[in-house]
Amino acid sequence: MGAGNAGELLERRRARVMAEKKAVFIDRDGVVVSSIMKNGKPCGPFHRGEFEMYPWTENALEKIALLGFLSIMITNQPDVAYGFVTYPEWKWMHRHVEKLPFDDIFVCMHTYGDGCECKKPKPGMILEAAKKWDIDLSCSYMIGDTEADTRAAQAAGVKSILIDKPYNRNIKSDYRAASLMGAVDLIKRLQEG
Ligand SMILES: [Mg+2]
Ligand SMILES: [Zn+2]
Repeated sequence: MGAGNAGELLERRRARVMAEKKAVFIDRDGVVVSSIMKNGKPCGPFHRGEFEMYPWTENALEKIALLGFLSIMITNQPDVAYGFVTYPEWKWMHRHVEKLPFDDIFVCMHTYGDGCECKKPKPGMILEAAKKWDIDLSCSYMIGDTEADTRAAQAAGVKSILIDKPYNRNIKSDYRAASLMGAVDLIKRLQEG
């Protein structure tokens, strides 16, 4: 192999690295939308009367873009399949989520019984997004509020940030923050450090 060839390979590698993006993957319930305790378990809203978006979400997503990260929602939404939420009601709530300045949204509507590859704690949605957007997972983050989020993050090789909740005190994560906005400020500090 001549020197020209090696130089060309290096050039191609450099171009690929330049094209790689970093992302902040973001869970929906308990992070963007208030979670509701039902039988001692955090759930997403079952109807529009329970639907409440955290007021800082849009600002947090704008900050993420300014930091040079893509923001991608990664959410399990099995409650339509379980019969807890009607599809029209779910769609009504989802339209509000779609108005937020996310770069992309990945939703798993499956139940545990479906055995899909996308449902967190599996890393399927993160890996699919990484392929679609050419994301370097090693410098990306997943912000969530449950063990499904931290385990999906670990399986995909991204750092996990847990939003502090009474129900997740015993779950291990790489970092913790008080809210999505707090998590974004933490990422900013980590970038500067
Ligand atoms: Mg959640
Ligand atoms: Zn799925």
